[in-house]
Amino acid sequence: MEKTPIQKLYEKIPSFRCKEGCTRCCDNWIQFAPEEAARCGGFDFSGEACPKLTDGGCSVYEHRPLICRLFASSEMMPCPYGYGPEIPLSEAETKAILQEYLRLRKEQEGYGKDGQ
Ligand code: SF4
Ligand code: SF4
Repeated sequence: MEKTPIQKLYEKIPSFRCKEGCTRCCDNWIQFAPEEAARCGGFDFSGEACPKLTDGGCSVYEHRPLICRLFASSEMMPCPYGYGPEIPLSEAETKAILQEYLRLRKEQEGYGKDGQ
């Protein structure tokens, strides 16, 4: 299946391996676009940590939203343990990705339509 514009944005984010067993970044209320929620089977937040977090780690890792991919891959969101890619995204690169991501999200969420 052809990748969506949001999935193509994922390709701009450098990947790395986290500290073994660490899920600290998943203790947050994360943001996601409708298509990301759909790929992950929905996000039903009832507590503090992400509902996709299991004892074995992220249960939707392959489909995790863009914000999860940015943790520690951007110099704007450094890992407290010093993990991350060799060359993280600069602030300017991160902002450009986020700007485009938000634009795409707004399109999907229907903001700005019908004069709203
Ligand atoms: S980026 Fe760092 S703090 Fe976040 S899950 Fe990975 S190792 Fe843990
Ligand atoms: S979707 Fe996965 S990687 Fe993202 S916060 Fe939830 S458990 Fe962590």
